[in-house]
This record gives sequence, C-alpha cells and structure tokens, in this order.
Amino acid sequence: MSDSILVIGGGFSGITAAVEAAEMGYDVYLVEKESYLGGRVAQLNKYFPKLCPPTCGLEMNFKRIKTNPRITFYTLADVESVSGGPGNFNVTIKVKPRGTTPQCTNCKAGEAAAKTEVPDEFNFGLSTRKPIYMPHPMAYPNQCVLDTENAAPDEIEAIKAAMPAGHIDTSQSEETVNLNVGAIIVATGWKPYDPNKITNLKFSEYENVITNMMMERLASPSGPTGGKVLRPSDNEEPKSVGFVQCAGSRDVNHLGFCSYICCMATLKQITYLKEQNPDIECYVFYIDIRSPGRKYENFYKKVKEMDKVHFIKGKVADILPGSAPGSVKLVAEDTIGGGKKEQEVDLAVLATGMQPVGAESKIPGIEYDADGFVVPKEGIIPCGCAMRPIDVVSSGQSATAAALKAVQTIARRAG
Ligand code: SF4
Repeated sequence: MSDSILVIGGGFSGITAAVEAAEMGYDVYLVEKESYLGGRVAQLNKYFPKLCPPTCGLEMNFKRIKTNPRITFYTLADVESVSGGPGNFNVTIKVKPRGTTPQCTNCKAGEAAAKTEVPDEFNFGLSTRKPIYMPHPMAYPNQCVLDTENAAPDEIEAIKAAMPAGHIDTSQSEETVNLNVGAIIVATGWKPYDPNKITNLKFSEYENVITNMMMERLASPSGPTGGKVLRPSDNEEPKSVGFVQCAGSRDVNHLGFCSYICCMATLKQITYLKEQNPDIECYVFYIDIRSPGRKYENFYKKVKEMDKVHFIKGKVADILPGSAPGSVKLVAEDTIGGGKKEQEVDLAVLATGMQPVGAESKIPGIEYDADGFVVPKEGIIPCGCAMRPIDVVSSGQSATAAALKAVQTIARRAG
C-alpha cells in the first residue's frame, strides 16, 4: 500500500490538486507532458472571474510548489501505463531529456547563436522560436529547452559553445520512472479543437481566420505582437472582427457537446478589442449565448450594451473572400432577422471548442468515455477539463475536491 498521490497534468487543475494534497501532508508526484507547468491558462491573456492575467493564479501556486518538499514534479514526461488498484497503483513514466541543466538561467546566449527558426507552439505558430528556447516568459521551471529534433549537430555545437559551461547537457537521454502510488488524479486538460477539421470555416485557406486561442496570444503582452491585436496577413489593426461561435462544438460531425467556455471567451475578447479601439465593429454569430450564473450573465449584458457590438443568431455556414485585401465574408442564416446574412470583416475568430486530451491520447489503464473524458473510478479521480468542459474557477474547485477524494481513497485503504 502507498500513501503517495500521482497527479497527471500540470495545468491549473493539476497544480491546484498537487498543492492541496501536499498541504494535507501527502507526498505528491506531478507529471506534465509539456516543458513547463501552467497548461492552457498560461496561454491566456486574461481569465475569469476577475479578468486578471495568468500570473495571478499561477505564480502563487508555483511558489507553493517550490516551497513544499512533498511535491516532486516531472516536465516533458508522459505516463506510459497504469496498473493495480486503489491504494496500490503501479505507474510507468517516460521523461524526455530537456538538454539543459538547472544551472541554465535563460541568458539568451544560446538563442543568439542558433540560426534555425521553427513555429512557436506556445503562440500557435503566430511567431517562431529557436531550437534552444524558453517556452514563454513566465515558464516554470525557468530553464531553457534544447530541441535537438530541429537543430543540426553543428548548430547544437554552436549553441553549446555560446552558452556558459555546464548549462547544456547533450548527453541526457530518456529516463523511465516507476512509481507506486495510492491514488491518481487525472488533470490532463484539453486542447483546442483542430480548426482544420471544420473545413467549411476555411482556417487553412485564409490567414485572417484565426482561433480564439490565437486571439488570446495576440492580445497578451507576452504574445507575438506585444499585446496589440493585429491581422496576421499584414500586421494591420482590424477595424471589424467577426466571431464564429460553436466552431466545432455542438456538432455531431465534430464535438457533440457544448464546450462551455467559448461564449464567455468571445465576450471577453470583445473587451480586449474595445480597449484597443472603442470604434471597432464586432459581429458575433451564435446559436445560443451561454453565460451561466449571475456574474457571467451580467458580463454578457455589459458587452451586449457596448456600442458597435452586433449579435446575429445564426450559425456560420461558409467563409468567403471579402472585397478588401485580406478581409473575409462570413455567411450565415439569420434565424431572427430572416434570410441569408453576409458580413465582411477584417478578421474572423473561430470560437473553437474544447477537446479533452483523452480524445486523442489515452493512457493505458485509465478509462475514457466516447468523447475522451476520463471516467472516474475508485482511486482514479478526474478533475478540470479531463472530466468535462469547465472554466478556470470550476477547474480549481474540482481539483480541490479531487485532492480530498484521493486522500479519502488512501485513508480508506489504510484503515
Ligand atoms: Fe457554442 Fe457557446 Fe457552447 Fe461554446 S459555450 S459550444 S460557443 S454555445
């Protein structure tokens, strides 16, 4: 029997669950597949309910992790398998090499020596990065990653020569870690639904059709445009923006459920645009606006009353080229006004849905439903968006509940 807890996923939910369990006196292993903790929240410009930047919630939790010796975390790590049962799970983890050592201080010397540029995943390809890089400015751990897949041997040598001695270690190799834990919290989160699959919305065809997560990066001060929302095609400020709701959600051909957050994300993004330019025209094409609870409903009302914000009840069926260079035309059936509605905009934003990571990447030994959400069972407790689509606040609450359930599992077995 083990009284340690494994948390799979180092996003907002996983970090919260890990900290809560450790502060209750349990040893916790936190496993994250990316090179940093913080997950999707780290990519946001602001999040509800206070519309604060991600540093708000994350930095405090990073500090709690740093100062709590009960938490051991692994980044660039994948859980390969889970076996056993409550109180006694055996877990195998594969940890990929980071290529740098904890002495690395993100001094940028290696970056300056590198020549190759590859699309920056953190910014959804809106910018590029070098093969030695810090994933984002507030990344924790604050240690660069050496991407050996995207650098030739002589470039790696040049990077190594430019960096202080001992900061880079090309001899690292993949490690296997075997753990025995009493309970497992699954906080593997979500990924934006692939917009390329919604072929009628032409994401791959028009540069000025972006996703709502790309909009978060454009609006973020740490993003590719320093926080100014500019069109990808020409770096011009858009004068009109169209939002396409339910892009891939509530659709039997894509995600058969409501993704819960994308209506609020659009309303929030309208406030970003209005802060930048109060005269901007915003068009929201929707099936229903879902703004659950008093706070969200009040936020919706506030945005609805803003000047030059238009809500059109109708699902966008097609996106065509606009008459002005780079602009696009959204085509929908206006179910209230009647008839076909065509709206030309400088920039279109697809409010893409939330796909659980489990839809495409399943961990052997964990059970999933048809959509890829984790099915709870004794000792295996999902939280956050691994469980269902929810917002950041509810994710935090579900993570605290998951920590308590994990502790109860261990206590029951020990008793
Ligand atoms: Fe559609 Fe809104 Fe639900 Fe997202 S939250 S799937 S945009 S109804």
